[in-house]
Amino acid sequence: MSTFTVVNPATEETVAAVPSCSAEQADEAVARAAAAQAAWRSVGPGDRAALLRRFAEVVDTHLEELAQLEVACSGHPVGQARWEAGNVRDVLRYYSAAPERLTGQQIPVPGGLDVTFKEPVGIVGLIVPWNFPMPILGWGLAPALAAGNPVIAKPAERTPLTAIRIGELALEAGLPEGVFQVLPGKGSVVGQRLVDHEAVRKIVFTGSTEVGRHIMAGCARQVKRLTLELGGKSANIVFADANLERAAATAPSAVFDIAGQDCCARSRILVQRSVFDRFMELLEPAVRGVAVGDPRDSATEMGPLISAEHRARVASYVPDQAPVAFRGTTPAGPGFWFPPTVLAPVAADDPAFTEEVFGPVVTVVPVEDEAEAIAIANDTPYGLSGSIWTENLGRALRVARAVETGNLSVNSHASVRYWTPFGGFKQSGLGRELGPDALDAFTEVKNVFIATD
Ligand code: NAP
Ligand code: MG
Repeated sequence: MSTFTVVNPATEETVAAVPSCSAEQADEAVARAAAAQAAWRSVGPGDRAALLRRFAEVVDTHLEELAQLEVACSGHPVGQARWEAGNVRDVLRYYSAAPERLTGQQIPVPGGLDVTFKEPVGIVGLIVPWNFPMPILGWGLAPALAAGNPVIAKPAERTPLTAIRIGELALEAGLPEGVFQVLPGKGSVVGQRLVDHEAVRKIVFTGSTEVGRHIMAGCARQVKRLTLELGGKSANIVFADANLERAAATAPSAVFDIAGQDCCARSRILVQRSVFDRFMELLEPAVRGVAVGDPRDSATEMGPLISAEHRARVASYVPDQAPVAFRGTTPAGPGFWFPPTVLAPVAADDPAFTEEVFGPVVTVVPVEDEAEAIAIANDTPYGLSGSIWTENLGRALRVARAVETGNLSVNSHASVRYWTPFGGFKQSGLGRELGPDALDAFTEVKNVFIATD
């Protein structure tokens, strides 16, 4: 069997060799999921809830182990990795309440009784990217299981270790065999097979818009249910009436967290012209002060990029003649490091301003007023997240309603809360994850009419 070598991006040392599954092994996993399906959907709601709660508790007792695996595999700072492992536990707990509340409707009709059921959609294929291996796994896994579906997860080739471990923890918690399986391997082989397999009824894909389009076309052949979470080029809009100190102090973390490899990265900062120079003065020390270094150190704020290839791609957005306003630092020695980088002024057609860089590169541009800020924020095929900084409540609401994006924060950069829906407008995605309605993406509504006449 072929294997993939997982490399620590901070040290370039080998972490593990992981088997790369074949298309035949994917078929075998689908057969196991199919065999487990009937029993899983008939587990009573209270028992399914209890199993999910137990799964959450087993994850909870392994948080540090999972966090350390992610540090080694992904180079995420350990504080961030602990949050990610805790998010898996929290999302499992949140959706453990769902099986007992998965109610349908009773609808008034003539001549009988009409009721609806939320039936499990069937086997779910969950294709996960390398940037947030744990949270994105949990966001698909927890509601899919809660709704009564078996899940086959395909982690990204570079970052399979936490998913594999969470698969073991599921068995330890008592989930029946075949209900949750993890299949490491290539996207073009295992991922593609899940898309093509007739018995897989739903795909949840998070990743690049390019691969997402290809998967959507593949699902179309079988009218397969699909949730897509894709790229972003989000705007951080700072108005003259904002608390500029806070806006500038927090702008670096909004784009440089996990080295900018975040679909929600606020990689375009739009600053009202009258305060542009003052904002840049405040931003400079905040960027130079980002603690870039050993991800195992709890004081570290930013680690390396995922791979040498990805670093080369990020670097292509900052050629020698690029308008670098100021930069942060990187450690010497091995590792795929790239410094936090601020580009200003940038041309409107600069690829660093128009394309998703997926690295620690941010562009800052001046805007005249609300209308121009909204126009520039919306001038992108993406629409995932964004921030608005202003002390004027009316302006905050006007701009929040006008920006075409799925997740906005006012005077904050937080995009993800497991209680609230998350997903993109336009080419940033299709459907929503998290929040109270996520079960709808893993169920089919069945209407049943019973004649009383
Ligand atoms: P990617 O190349 O699109 O890969 C994502 C996943 O799809 C990986 O598991 C990959 O496997 C698999 N894959 C690749 N080709 C496939 C195919 N033909 N059929 C089925 N699966 C296939 O994305 P990435 O480079 O890992 O992640 C970066 C991108 O994800 C960015 O664009 C980012 O914005 C986006 N993202 C979006 C969100 C969101 O919620 N909207 C969240 C995180 C990331 P391999 O690892 O084997 O290639
Ligand atoms: Mg890729």
